[in-house]
Amino acid sequence: MTSTPHADSYYAASANDKTERAQLRDNIDTDICIIGAGYTGLSTALHLLEMGYSVTVLEAARIGWGASGRNGGQIVNSFSRDIDSIEKTVGKEAGKLFGEMAFEGARIIKDRISKYNIQCDLQDGGVFAALNNKQMGHLQSQKALWEKHGHMNHLELLDKNDIRKVVDTEAYVGGLLDKSGGHIHPLNLALGEANAVESLGGKIYENSAVVKVEEGENPVVHTAHGSVKAKFVVVAGNAYLGGLIPQLQAKAMPCGTQVITTEPLSDELAKSLLPQNYCVEDCNYLLDYFRLSGDNRLIYGGGVVYGARDPADIKSIITPKMLKTFPQLKGVKIDYTWTGNFLLTLSRLPQVGRIGSNIYYSQGCSGHGVTYTHLAGKILAEAINGQATRFDAFAGLPHYPFPGGHMFQVPFSAIGAWYYTMRDKLGV
Ligand SMILES: Cc1cc2nc3c(=O)[nH]c(=O)nc-3n(C[C@H](O)[C@H](O)[C@H](O)COP(=O)(O)OP(=O)(O)OC[C@H]3O[C@@H](n4cnc5c(N)ncnc54)[C@H](O)[C@@H]3O)c2cc1C
Repeated sequence: MTSTPHADSYYAASANDKTERAQLRDNIDTDICIIGAGYTGLSTALHLLEMGYSVTVLEAARIGWGASGRNGGQIVNSFSRDIDSIEKTVGKEAGKLFGEMAFEGARIIKDRISKYNIQCDLQDGGVFAALNNKQMGHLQSQKALWEKHGHMNHLELLDKNDIRKVVDTEAYVGGLLDKSGGHIHPLNLALGEANAVESLGGKIYENSAVVKVEEGENPVVHTAHGSVKAKFVVVAGNAYLGGLIPQLQAKAMPCGTQVITTEPLSDELAKSLLPQNYCVEDCNYLLDYFRLSGDNRLIYGGGVVYGARDPADIKSIITPKMLKTFPQLKGVKIDYTWTGNFLLTLSRLPQVGRIGSNIYYSQGCSGHGVTYTHLAGKILAEAINGQATRFDAFAGLPHYPFPGGHMFQVPFSAIGAWYYTMRDKLGV
């Protein structure tokens, strides 16, 4: 059997569990077959198992091989477009429901970690950092908006002096601290969730790419060496799904973002950079994000490659960004670099829905996916279990195909990104 290893990242090197699961080489029956063992797939699996269903997860490579095992590890509340934009699309009443859901993903993650005793370096507290006054104004509105939707007692605006006490850089004019955000070792979270799935009787097959989904009353999911007959299928392949389900491919575009990780820093240096050990992301459209690892490395990400081509030299793209924020890190060694794909939609809102009566999907959270995917898993499980109010709310959000189809996705989005980056630079 040929195995597809995890990306050569700090996370793969420090994974808690390297056990390889079997490949599917059988024809089996299950209640629900899930395609993809990232957070969307694993969260859905765990919720369904807790409800008493039998679940089989098929993963093309390894558990957490996609974005879920490569991301910045930042637990960020709300959605990639905030509740006010959603409200404009769906109206005030439905908007309230999204407001209630906007903070649930982080609670689900923290609940999973404590319930299943997952060791993934959880730290509380995340900072949104403003590079100019316009962004600071936006953070003030964001705080008011989140408080209006019940996210009370967790938020604190930071002025220029305050933010220097939590991030040792001249770069920011202020920020917003969300104490209910935080950060984790993302691959160890996925691996811990996979163990939880298996502890409840769920089956996970690795190196088992789905090559065909046969629709019908009992859909059949085929891999190269086996098949799974199910009552329901959940498609959770996100940016790595390719053309398996053509109607999903047409609606969104994979994009790459890159991460570097330093050598372990001395306690003194690590503590001086981020004294409270919060994670940080700036407010630019193409944003930088960073945090400390459990062993005092700085993990720094940023940049977007539209169309998800792998950049040749990640170190030379991301290191200057890190040194602009922290010039004091000049000369520090970079131990790991990697890239990963997230899925961008035109509205930057997730796409949730059903194909026929029994094939469910969620994809395209467009960046902030660590919390959303955990919420999505719960919502998909609820819908399969017959409670579809929250699923229907998500499914009602408009899905726009990228104009011009695949050929023009990349230039179209790159022009959009250039426009927003210029606005960020000018602070307008
Ligand atoms: C570098 C990077 C940094 C990020 N940082 C953050 C962050 O700090 N905070 C945040 O909130 N979000 C972040 N994100 C986004 C977040 O990681 C993703 O939104 C989220 O992990 C998506 O989870 P998923 O389960 O939907 O998809 P994935 O984790 O990509 O999982 C999809 C899985 O499906 C499998 N698959 C695909 N096709 C098939 C098939 N045919 N058969 C079987 N299996 C298949 C893939 O192999 C893959 O393992 C980041 C993303 C990247 C790439």
